[in-house]
Amino acid sequence: MNSMNRTLRRYSFPVSLVLGGGLAAAAGTQLASYSVPSGLSFGCALCICSTFTSFLQTVAEALTTTTHRCRKEGCDFAVRLGAQAAENRRWQEIAATHPHRH
Ligand SMILES: [Zn+2]
Repeated sequence: MNSMNRTLRRYSFPVSLVLGGGLAAAAGTQLASYSVPSGLSFGCALCICSTFTSFLQTVAEALTTTTHRCRKEGCDFAVRLGAQAAENRRWQEIAATHPHRH
């Protein structure tokens, strides 16, 4: 895993949470200006925060994760990892030589 991936993994959650919280606060403020009850605004803001945070986490994980799959048709063996190059190669070989009983 290169240093950019490590940095992305390390800071993806706090950054996602801050961005999601900011978006939620903006939406909550707008809803409050329309006299939406605070309990309803809070619920909407919480949903926006959790959805946006989860979305950004998924994007960060996709950018820093490699998936190695068995190439035999019908086999669903797969390994997902965010490892260093040597470990990555090792799992790539394991997936390529995945044993089958039939
Ligand atoms: Zn297989």
